[in-house]
Amino acid sequence: MRTPKTCPKCNLDVNLYWNMLVENTMYDNWKKWFCAQCSHFFNCKDGELHSWYDDLDFESDFISPIKIADIIYDDWWENISTEAKPYVEALFNLSDFNDSFWYDSADTIITYFLMNSTNWKWDIAKKVKKALKRLIKEK
Ligand SMILES: [Zn+2]
Repeated sequence: MRTPKTCPKCNLDVNLYWNMLVENTMYDNWKKWFCAQCSHFFNCKDGELHSWYDDLDFESDFISPIKIADIIYDDWWENISTEAKPYVEALFNLSDFNDSFWYDSADTIITYFLMNSTNWKWDIAKKVKKALKRLIKEK
């Protein structure tokens, strides 16, 4: 989930925000965030957003299957392809990259995910795919 970095009014750090309302509100202008310092209500568009994986080093940090799946959902949930979805769901069920889900090994799941995620291709997608390809090769 993407959260505000700082309050657009007083620049208070993100940790002091409260999430006020449900995630999928149908109203774009719904004020979703509340600053605990200056009591400013605002929505996602008013501030710079960030997510936990923005600072991740995809080249060297170990990222568990669940966290990879979390990034994919977070970044791609709006229009994730139905072909890719089952493999992301499988990733959620792996405890590590030597694990398997039903009859599929982690390698198989990753390979099929990569094959079925060609229309997920912006910046974060490239980083995740590169990390996944490296994981398969490293075994
Ligand atoms: Zn504030």
